[in-house]
Amino acid sequence: MIISVASGKGGTGKTLVATSLALSLKGKGKVQLLDCDVEEPNAHIFLCPTTNQSQPVFLPIPKVDETKCTYCGKCAEVCAYNAIAVIKQKVLVFPELCHGCGACSYLCPESAITEEGREIGVVETGSLGNIEFIQGRLAIGEPMAPPIIREVKRHIDPTKEVIIDVSPGTSCPVVEAVKDSDFCLLVTEPTPFGLNDLSLAVEVTRKLGISCGVVINRVGVGNEKVESYCHEQGIPILLKIPLDRKIATLYSKGISLIEGMPRWRKAFLRLFQDIKEIVSASQVMKPIDWQEVAIDGETHVKRITAMYEEFGFEVRLEEIKPEELEQCTKCLQERGEKIYRVYTRRKKEVDE
Ligand code: SF4
Ligand code: SF4
Repeated sequence: MIISVASGKGGTGKTLVATSLALSLKGKGKVQLLDCDVEEPNAHIFLCPTTNQSQPVFLPIPKVDETKCTYCGKCAEVCAYNAIAVIKQKVLVFPELCHGCGACSYLCPESAITEEGREIGVVETGSLGNIEFIQGRLAIGEPMAPPIIREVKRHIDPTKEVIIDVSPGTSCPVVEAVKDSDFCLLVTEPTPFGLNDLSLAVEVTRKLGISCGVVINRVGVGNEKVESYCHEQGIPILLKIPLDRKIATLYSKGISLIEGMPRWRKAFLRLFQDIKEIVSASQVMKPIDWQEVAIDGETHVKRITAMYEEFGFEVRLEEIKPEELEQCTKCLQERGEKIYRVYTRRKKEVDE
């Protein structure tokens, strides 16, 4: 089972929950803890694993052979990230924007593009008893976290209990880390900021079709609105951790909750069992239907397709005539663009 531990907001205690969950399972079968918060990995501080391997991660960046290039512009046209541009008799590559998807080299009609690796970080592996520890570390100044997260997730062993510490927020690195999880645990705090960012994180899990539950940390600091929101939305509150000076002190010293206050182990084992039951129930009910996500002209549809495929979705297009639509499509017709209805479904669901 893969459980990702995320939070819309930073500083809610996500790593405390992820490491406590992993440590509570220590001695109870095989466990993996993946630190996918690659911009600032800190689970190792609480776990203190023995690190035994460090592997660099490279991103394939296009390199253009201008003796073969005809400046047709095809590469710039297919790049969904504006990472390559053709200006008159020059092809410009912007490595910091490149996602290394390979579309430009694959589609270049002159085979003028080769790829060269650019090191963007490392993946480190180690262990602590029966807990296998894997963390990604993005090099300073590098903006592209998802490729490192993908490398970390390549180590997932489906026969083990896998816990993923996700970076805070709701952007691409979060989607990359959370997708393909069986369950997403959202850690929040009972404050207006906590509620706002929790609702954004819930939206992400719903778009990905992943069941979620909430851990409320620092109970006593704010108000009841987070609880009311969860009840309204039908999201289970699986654990509450009180505002406790001793917990804060342990955290500030880099001591895990399970080590510093062993009585919490039982609560985290209960949390794990509850998640297991929810996952079993939701697997029985998981929908596999296509969902309509957009109606757009072919230029935009190419980008939408690339984005969804990168996030692990299957995409189906259905061409529609302008007269079948109520919305204005004048500009698309003027550009001679075909119009499509875009449907997606998760690849994992298809495999299932
Ligand atoms: S697709 Fe190939 S040939 Fe065309 S501009 Fe790009 S690099 Fe040059
Ligand atoms: S590899 Fe992908 S992201 Fe990078 S320049 Fe080529 S098409 Fe764009």
